[in-house]
Amino acid sequence: MRPEPDTLVVGAGTAGCVVAARLSADPARAVLVLEAGPVWATPAQAPPGLLEAATLPLDPAAPWLRHYPAVLGYAGGAPVAATLVRGAVLGGSGAVNGAYFIRPPAPDLAAWCARTGDDTWSAAALAPTFAALEHDLDFGAAPGHGTGGPIPVRRPAAPDDPFTAAALAAGFPAVPDWNAPAAPATGVGPVPCSLDGPLRADTGSRYLLPALSRPNLTLRGGTAVTRLLIERGRVAGVCTETEVIRAGRVVLCAGAIESAALLLRSGIGPPDELRAAGIEPVLAAPVGRHCADHPEIGLDYRVSARRIGAVALETVLELDGVEVRPYALEFAPAVRRIGVALMRPATTGTLRVRAADPRIPPVIEHNHLASAVDRRHMLDGLDTAAELLSRMAGVTGAVRPPAAAGLPGILTTSQHLAGSCRMGTAGDDAAVVDRMGRLYGLDDLWIADLSIVPVPLARGPQATVVALAERIASGMRG
Ligand SMILES: Cc1cc2nc3c(=O)[nH]c(=O)nc-3n(C[C@H](O)[C@H](O)[C@H](O)COP(=O)(O)OP(=O)(O)OC[C@H]3O[C@@H](n4cnc5c(N)ncnc54)[C@H](O)[C@@H]3O)c2cc1C
Repeated sequence: MRPEPDTLVVGAGTAGCVVAARLSADPARAVLVLEAGPVWATPAQAPPGLLEAATLPLDPAAPWLRHYPAVLGYAGGAPVAATLVRGAVLGGSGAVNGAYFIRPPAPDLAAWCARTGDDTWSAAALAPTFAALEHDLDFGAAPGHGTGGPIPVRRPAAPDDPFTAAALAAGFPAVPDWNAPAAPATGVGPVPCSLDGPLRADTGSRYLLPALSRPNLTLRGGTAVTRLLIERGRVAGVCTETEVIRAGRVVLCAGAIESAALLLRSGIGPPDELRAAGIEPVLAAPVGRHCADHPEIGLDYRVSARRIGAVALETVLELDGVEVRPYALEFAPAVRRIGVALMRPATTGTLRVRAADPRIPPVIEHNHLASAVDRRHMLDGLDTAAELLSRMAGVTGAVRPPAAAGLPGILTTSQHLAGSCRMGTAGDDAAVVDRMGRLYGLDDLWIADLSIVPVPLARGPQATVVALAERIASGMRG
């Protein structure tokens, strides 16, 4: 490795592992990856239990997590506080997530294309990327699918799942493959999951570790970037607590919270807001102005038979913008939960920093359920969930959906914060990066993670982030 890498990737999470593996495939390029959390060199060295998909490894004391305070919304004028959690480890949030791996629906990608003014991110343009990144063990030979990619995908749902039976009996169509090119907007079906046997198939194990033997790829763990090094109109490298590391170009893959926070702490953001935080503005940009997430409310119920799933969510009911999630985990002994999530909420939230000091967490304010349309969709989704519970075998006791006034007080989050550094055209007031992830206003900085997705996606974001990182890396290879 030369002293100054060509490419410095910040964050070995879901996106960063893809970008680093793809860019280092060119032996002429030296790639350095800096990851704030722990890393290891072979799959066998992963912390015991971390990647087992049947449980979410979210113990508050776990060394592979980072927590952030947030306000989800307001109940009677009082803030509804929550803690956001992210994986801070090789594989990032993909190393601690539910392994749900569903492609975004075509209408969301069409809305994305409306932000970039071209078809770079259309369903048709992304189809080959999704097929190439997967090894689908159920539908690999079907049109639009693949069997040669790094991410193994399978659907572990039990065929006699009582939720599916109740949804079918209620008239919802069966959807055997949510990743089929023409999957419908509404229906019930097994969740495609990124699984390697019983383990999460995150991008750390599937992309980065297999590439680590390359002499031109270096991974450093326990190394948090504190700010960007900006010189003469370009991003010339990064700073950590102890060093300045120069690079030919920098790719931010620190996730939607930390990529935005790094820009803001480096003086890239809304100037008034930066000055209020004691940060000298370098470049005016709408960083953190338009964050999206999937607000969620859970209905708990008791069951007579206790079966734990292979993953947190084995089956899902889609209602074209509302996702009904019959979790396969226990939330207390014999207590299960159905989550109802708004997947295309009408409102957005904000992220800002209070200081240049990276130890001070950003201020994250979602604005969930501020819109009457969103409250209506949430109530309708909860009614549907309660109705299905009333039809479901093995449920003991009645479950009543909450009243409208009670919704904000029981809000939770799907942990999918996105869009803090949105993609868009040069004339777009909300855009931070161009259609290929390049920062507007300074050279040699790309962003390749969930922060740049400019529209709400009606599916969980993991599969999209992998495809996004593949395409940004492909654009960077030229
Ligand atoms: C608990 C949980 C469950 C989820 N379940 C699902 C699911 O089942 N399906 C789904 O589709 N989505 C799910 N998601 C969301 C999905 O996993 C994430 O949206 C996706 O992984 C984000 O990818 P990313 O690359 O943008 O960020 P991340 O994967 O979070 O990667 C960011 C990486 O950057 C590192 N980093 C951050 N700051 C710095 C810094 N300053 N210096 C160096 N490194 C830094 C972090 O440590 C981390 O490793 C879940 C998320 C969580 C938290």
